[in-house]
Amino acid sequence: MLKRFQESNPTKVDIWRQPFKPNKPVDIVVSPAVKRDLLILIQMFRLHFEEVLPDLSESLSKVPRASSLSQRTHVDEFSLDEYHTYDEINWWLYDMERRHSTMMTVFEVGRSWEDRSMLAVKISSPDRTSASKPAVWLDAAIHANEWIGPATLLYFIQQFVTNYDHDPTVKKLIDTFDWYLLPVFNVDGYVYSWKEDRLWRKNRSKQGNSTGCVGVDLNRNWDAKFEEHTVTDKCSAIYPGPSAFSERESQVVSSFLRRHPVIVAAVSYHSYSQFWMIPFGYSKSKHPSNYNQLMNMSAAAVEALRQVHGTQYEYGSIDDLVGQTFGSSIDYIYDTLGIPYVFGVELRDRGHYCALLPPNQIIPNAEESLAAITKLASMIPETLPGNRESSESQ
Ligand SMILES: [Zn+2]
Repeated sequence: MLKRFQESNPTKVDIWRQPFKPNKPVDIVVSPAVKRDLLILIQMFRLHFEEVLPDLSESLSKVPRASSLSQRTHVDEFSLDEYHTYDEINWWLYDMERRHSTMMTVFEVGRSWEDRSMLAVKISSPDRTSASKPAVWLDAAIHANEWIGPATLLYFIQQFVTNYDHDPTVKKLIDTFDWYLLPVFNVDGYVYSWKEDRLWRKNRSKQGNSTGCVGVDLNRNWDAKFEEHTVTDKCSAIYPGPSAFSERESQVVSSFLRRHPVIVAAVSYHSYSQFWMIPFGYSKSKHPSNYNQLMNMSAAAVEALRQVHGTQYEYGSIDDLVGQTFGSSIDYIYDTLGIPYVFGVELRDRGHYCALLPPNQIIPNAEESLAAITKLASMIPETLPGNRESSESQ
């Protein structure tokens, strides 16, 4: 019903959260011109509905624009309870590296389609004489409009390097693992979401088509049953690209992960929905070989998260929670790279502010997310399965 409604009003209807199973919520944006028609349909089918952003353009008008921000010049002026531009984030990362050079290294994972630097951080304990440790990979904003992801990873970085000396929990995290964090995966899209279109999701690669539509959904572009996708419309927000790994951003991250077999766990942060997800997205019936272990870790992470501010997450496979997806990063990382502990996390909220989560939720979201990742890391066994044991380091 929704599909037909959208097809008959393609420019006036946008579906943010797709319908894929009965009794799952759907988020839909309509222009005022078709709002009445939608309400009639809802009544006809006796659906439960809630109006969450009554005036989207007004909500969007409150979002800060890159150009309206003055350049911060000192790290103390950079507060973690605000969203930050790509330039501000990079500047802050280098400044933090200067202040915490014994623990933190900033490096370029690769460069984007528009030739921007994709900066990541390695955090390890100051005692560098210790042997190479297993490592954890965290990334955010593979989808440009999911600003809460980078904000969350910046909080993690700040907590890791400033609390190492006086918080035993943080010390243990860093003494046990090396941490790689990529706060802004889709750098071009992120910049575009600040300058032009707050809700932009894809990267910005030219697709050479007459419609002028650009960009690929970087979380549909990995070589995980890529060939089974059915989306060929280059204007679609989930266009997976002409071939698996056609995009520079997904290429450089996958090759970094391949070159670093010390990485034993990976978490990719998205928003929104409050889901803690495990592979697979591409199959309804296939489960990871360590399914029970991944589910137990997810249950514990979600419970640790809930204890901080009472926020409820659901956990399960991608296919169970958001529906079938081909070409996703976590399926590829699990299947092809053989990293055994792989998760996709949909951060706050559950569909009230959607992608426009207010800044006053950044810190609470980050605090509970840190509790979850701490719990998760504590459950990674010391003896690791598979062939990811190696002494290679960054
Ligand atoms: Zn996402």
